[in-house]
Amino acid sequence: MSSPTGSKPSFSFELFPPKTPEGMEKLKTTIAELNAVGPEYFSVTYGAGGSTRDGTFETVAWLRGQGIDTAPHLACIGSNPDEVRAILARYQTQGIHRIVALRGDLPSGTGTGTAGAFRYANELVEFIRAERGTHFHIEVAAYPEYHPQSPNPTQDMQHFKRKVQAGADSAITQYFYNADAYFGFIDNARAQGIAIPIIPGIMPITNYTQLARFSDACGAEIPRWARRRLEGCGDDLDAVRAFGHEVVLRLCRNLLTGGAPGLHFYTMNQSGPTLRLWNDLGLSD
Ligand code: FAD
Repeated sequence: MSSPTGSKPSFSFELFPPKTPEGMEKLKTTIAELNAVGPEYFSVTYGAGGSTRDGTFETVAWLRGQGIDTAPHLACIGSNPDEVRAILARYQTQGIHRIVALRGDLPSGTGTGTAGAFRYANELVEFIRAERGTHFHIEVAAYPEYHPQSPNPTQDMQHFKRKVQAGADSAITQYFYNADAYFGFIDNARAQGIAIPIIPGIMPITNYTQLARFSDACGAEIPRWARRRLEGCGDDLDAVRAFGHEVVLRLCRNLLTGGAPGLHFYTMNQSGPTLRLWNDLGLSD
């Protein structure tokens, strides 16, 4: 399989740092199961303002201790340059070569005065390049259905372009369930001269209530027909999972057939739903 840019497709798994030692133990098993299929890397989320800092560091250090390629997320809002500088130095020493550079979100009700030195992700990308040259491969976020705070798609695309001009190497998208939103975004980006790979972010469907809540917050649309079917499953979690698998598998197939340069799975720290997709897509073949 080759991507439109001619580079090797990238298949990666996203984790979040567990809050308890028991959660960490469970995550180690999940990672072992996921790592067995040979992803390009694991990414680990980071709470804006450093809220998950220690958990992110612990998870990243454990992954690196296993020799696994790891891409820590770094959300800059509420941070100061010295903190970010120290984190970059730490990651470089740990043999990390890839970072997912984000703005993050301040907790609601927080004033803009607490944003700190970095207001938008393009400023973090610039900072990483200024501090560490080309050491890190920098991933940034992209929004095929547009970022919920952007006034309009045109400005959102211009803001995305700024991150690329600041030095982003590739992008991972917010999740979506409509392949046309992704392909439309790609056409739009290419028309703006943006040439970097834009990897679709894939969210398996396992829990409809949780997914509906997330989707409202991040501006990802669950199509009406899928919502109706998922609502119809009620408390039957097996039925939700079976239908969810069918929907997401079809989406992934359409994306790869249409030229998507890989997939980034939001695993939600569970191996089962992602591995089922991986196997049915034949990604290990
Ligand atoms: P930006 O690119 O800075 O954009 C944010 C908003 O500001 C957009 O509406 C954009 O149009 C607008 N904007 C950008 N630049 C300017 C400008 N110069 N002037 C005016 N407006 C501007 N969050 C976390 O806290 N931790 C994580 O680990 C995390 N991981 C994520 C991983 C992926 C793949 C994705 C897609 C999102 C992730 N998020 C994470 C969520 C992300 O932090 C939020 O969506 C956040 O609201 C925006 O971050 P960003 O990096 O896209 O911001």
